[in-house]
Amino acid sequence: MIRCTIFAGKPVAVFGLGASGNATARALREGGAEVAAWDDSEAGRKASAALGIPLVDLAAADWSRFAALVLAPGVPLTHPEPHWTVKKAHAAGIEVIGDVELFFRERVKVCPAAPVICITGTNGKSTTTALTTHILRSAGLDTQMGGNIGVPVLALEPPAMNRFHVLELSSFQIDLTPSLKPTVGVLLNITPDHIDRHGTVEHYAAVKERLVQTAARACVGVDDAASFDILQRRAPVGPTVAFSVERSIRPGYCLVGPEAGAGFTESTLICSDATGLAVRLGSTASVATLRGRHNAQNALAAVAAVRECLNEIGRPLNIDWQRGLDTYPGLAHRMEEIGELAKAGGRVLFINDSKATNADSTDKALASFPRDIFWILGGKPKEGGITTLQAFFPRIANAYLIGQATEEFAATLEGKVAYERCGTLDRALAAATRDALASAGAESIILLSPACASYDQFKSFEHRGDTFRQLVAAIPGVRLKEKA
Ligand code: ADP
Repeated sequence: MIRCTIFAGKPVAVFGLGASGNATARALREGGAEVAAWDDSEAGRKASAALGIPLVDLAAADWSRFAALVLAPGVPLTHPEPHWTVKKAHAAGIEVIGDVELFFRERVKVCPAAPVICITGTNGKSTTTALTTHILRSAGLDTQMGGNIGVPVLALEPPAMNRFHVLELSSFQIDLTPSLKPTVGVLLNITPDHIDRHGTVEHYAAVKERLVQTAARACVGVDDAASFDILQRRAPVGPTVAFSVERSIRPGYCLVGPEAGAGFTESTLICSDATGLAVRLGSTASVATLRGRHNAQNALAAVAAVRECLNEIGRPLNIDWQRGLDTYPGLAHRMEEIGELAKAGGRVLFINDSKATNADSTDKALASFPRDIFWILGGKPKEGGITTLQAFFPRIANAYLIGQATEEFAATLEGKVAYERCGTLDRALAAATRDALASAGAESIILLSPACASYDQFKSFEHRGDTFRQLVAAIPGVRLKEKA
């Protein structure tokens, strides 16, 4: 845990008592601050009280006493409207910050040169964060991973000269971090998302831009227009590298080989300098945990982040990139290969992509398997349904519909893809297994990629994915892979 000493002896309000709020309260207390913690939910307050966190009813508190309000990133700062605690803080003239801000201020005190890599983007943040961490750790380097990926940043080990911190940051977290100053800032991509919370696409992009503008070195994916514009504005400010899975760039990080074009199936990652001299860093071609073009983007970003960070701090680049890629265990519920079953002349692969809660994410999964997909989908539908996925319909051998989306999806598939109404996940899996075993293809894919939220039948996408794993584990003869 990081002892947060910057508010020692001062009263600090902490609002939002999830995992990061609780870690914040503890870190501040350990550092000598007087903590006043609160949450709108009584259950949240009770859980924190059980951890020994001091509760103060902030609705009735004297706000002029507080040195700062530390807000959980899920609590609205500006849109659709500021949370009541934010209004109170503004009225009292006190600053509103997040736990990542506390991390950066503490770093200035204990070790300003400690290497920190921050990663943001609309999609691929967690994968890139986990892969960056994995590459550093497999090179024997002491590495801490946290932020939006699920481990509160203040629950990590403190910054130190020989320790790397890899932090996944959402726009909400960046918004609450005025002192953000990473060694390397990575921006993967920008597509409209979370507009409800940021008001406009421009504001959303501007928040993400801060991450690269404040970094000692910036790595920017240039495959979308908004990120490309950010690269143009950042380049005059300080060292900046671009990466792309769409085209060859120099200097920068990109892919080579015939696979880099439209018929993408695999990728060789290269880095080239301004003269065109290229270094081959590795390939994701045979890495089952990094299937698909989107993961090639994540892999390029991770490799660039590590290389640029080592360059920045003047450490040698003796990294076995291929080993790092080959041994990456992947993340649970994101195109996670969970098991296989032998069949006459081949095998059936079971893929858990429960994290795919919209068509955009399912698009990536369908694009990663060329044929013979036995697709389990459905749940609580999102606007637009699966109409954008039509280009992939020829790859689908059969579809198995579950949950509330059944009739809507049946209408989209009608006449284009054979489908079955299964109702529940267990029945869908049983039907898909029966059909995949009977299929002539050498490799049949049973893919849970629902393109829907899970809440009609499950507590969360994790619950849906875990249930899928348990059901697969119960199939006779299945060889289960270890959980990612
Ligand atoms: P995030 O943390 O940004 O939500 P994840 O790494 O958890 O991203 O990936 C979630 C889903 O987003 C994946 O299952 C995949 O469908 C999609 N995805 C991952 N990486 C990318 C990328 N680079 N570009 C577009 N979509 C991606």
